[in-house]
Amino acid sequence: MKPGSVAIVGAGPGDPELITLKAVLRIQQAEVLLYDRLVNEELLNYAQPDAVLIYCGKSPGNHSMPQRKIEQYMVQYAREGKKVVRLKGGDPFVFGRGGEEALAMAEAGIAYEVVPGITSAIGAAASAGIPLTHRGLAASFTIVTGSRCNDHESPVQWDQLVRSSDTIVVYMGISQFSEIREQLLLHGKSGLTPVAVIENGTTTRQRTLTGTLNNIEKLLYATKIGNPALIIIGEVVKVREQLLKLEIEAKSQIG
Ligand code: SAH
Repeated sequence: MKPGSVAIVGAGPGDPELITLKAVLRIQQAEVLLYDRLVNEELLNYAQPDAVLIYCGKSPGNHSMPQRKIEQYMVQYAREGKKVVRLKGGDPFVFGRGGEEALAMAEAGIAYEVVPGITSAIGAAASAGIPLTHRGLAASFTIVTGSRCNDHESPVQWDQLVRSSDTIVVYMGISQFSEIREQLLLHGKSGLTPVAVIENGTTTRQRTLTGTLNNIEKLLYATKIGNPALIIIGEVVKVREQLLKLEIEAKSQIG
């Protein structure tokens, strides 16, 4: 029997054109494809008609497939000699549990590779006109998770983050926004710090809100922004406003 293999592949942030060539090639070669909720389903059109497609995300009212179950499928199909692709939103190693899957493959002795993808922070920042670093405004950015932010065991050290990073991008943070805001203010961020929230970044359904740490929460409730969404905190958010203003001026000159 031919040996099976696994590719843990990043599908990019949502826009189906923002996928790498290598990722497309792996999808085309796949015999079994396990994909997540955040993967743009248009990308499944690259798969062979007889490929087995397995959805691992949450369906309405149901739970998502447990991580261990996904790993078991990956191992099982690879042992059957299949070319397996595990397709994940954004980049597999950025809050994607791709590391756990790589470990599971290595433990099972299965040949695997990781194909990177454009993570949603990079994609959404570009399509919202927010450079994550910008001369004079930000010399660093940090990607953090907003989940369990108020917990004593919070995976993020907010005090150090406020001191050391100019731009902060929070994944999985919308439902925890008030706790995140509280942590940032507690550790010295100004309430006037610019904030952007980007929902469905890079897709045709993208919505972007901007404001400050003080006032954006009201807008979040009013617009019912929901997942998937990212929060970008820092002076660089002002560049979006500058770009929009210049675009409006240019249009009015043409008109
Ligand atoms: N591996 C993924 C992240 C998975 S965690 C990546 O590299 O992007 C899931 C979180 O990612 C969501 O809760 C949301 O915060 C963010 N996210 C993913 N896709 C997004 C998109 N198109 N727009 C905004 N946020 C997104």
